[in-house]
Amino acid sequence: MVEALREELADLTASVRAFLEWHAATGADGLPGHPSALHEALGASSPDGGPPAPRRAERGFAGLDAPSPPASRGGSDAAFAPPAQRSDAGGASPPQPERRSAAASPPQPEQRSAEAQAARPPVQAQRSPEPSPRPAVSAASAPRATAAQPVTPEERVTRLALLAEEVRTCQKCPLHEGRTHAVFSRGSPLSEIVFVGEGPGAEEDLQGEPFVGPAGQLLDKMIAAMGYPRDGVYICNIVKCRPPQNRKPEPAEMATCSPYLASQLALIKPKVIVALGATAVQGLIGTTEGITKLRGTWKLYKGTIPIMPTFHPAYLLRQPSAKREVWSDLKEVMRHLGKSAPDRG
Ligand code: SF4
Repeated sequence: MVEALREELADLTASVRAFLEWHAATGADGLPGHPSALHEALGASSPDGGPPAPRRAERGFAGLDAPSPPASRGGSDAAFAPPAQRSDAGGASPPQPERRSAAASPPQPEQRSAEAQAARPPVQAQRSPEPSPRPAVSAASAPRATAAQPVTPEERVTRLALLAEEVRTCQKCPLHEGRTHAVFSRGSPLSEIVFVGEGPGAEEDLQGEPFVGPAGQLLDKMIAAMGYPRDGVYICNIVKCRPPQNRKPEPAEMATCSPYLASQLALIKPKVIVALGATAVQGLIGTTEGITKLRGTWKLYKGTIPIMPTFHPAYLLRQPSAKREVWSDLKEVMRHLGKSAPDRG
């Protein structure tokens, strides 16, 4: 009996000593919260290295085993750490909160923006392609319009502009030698009427526009009397360059220049052509008849477009009494177009 008490006392003394050593090693306050923790803190082995006595576990945290070697503070911290931290401690260093947050959280707006920008194609690729330089369209290569090729108004304007550029530099006949400007046209390419004269005079040669001298001013009055604005009709000539001393163009000059007029008329497709003077009628239909006989009688251009021959405005300046016939011819044109005009006798 005494021997048993002595053993019990020795066992108790060893447990107290072990607890005190654990306490000194860990600096923890109070007792471990779980018997297994105390057991772990005191060491899994008995002081003699044998297996722990079952009865210690049965005693709970009060079951003090034999003192174990003092645990390191690290080991002690791990022992008291929350389970999650303990499991993290088993492997590599746990990610710091900042690192974990950065890894798990969605990209910040700045990051997204930067990534989106990086993912974007280069700015140049997003931009509309730079307008490629226009192919150099030589005026000389401008397509010729024909009656079989309908064109839009925009195409008409474009092609006429190309044709005008070609005429501007044309040297196909000797008339280019004395010109100041080639004179292509004036007025609307969308007009239903085209007035065709003979060729530029001195004023037209200087200004580069047809019918801008005294004869042109009279023509403007005729056009206004018909109810059209000055530039509401299309006006051009048989030849585009002024003949010297305002002489009549030679047949060869007219023939050489005629493709330009043919292209103009093919593009515009007017309902009526008003031929001003004998040379204009000759250049359009090749007749050599005098204008006195021709005027007031319908002709056809290329079998399709009605032509009304009448006196040239320059003639009217010299012969004002002929205005009555001209007005009669213009009224006939208006009748043909379904328009009415005041009777100006
Ligand atoms: S008159 Fe006609 S063909 Fe002769 S140079 Fe002038 S544009 Fe050319």
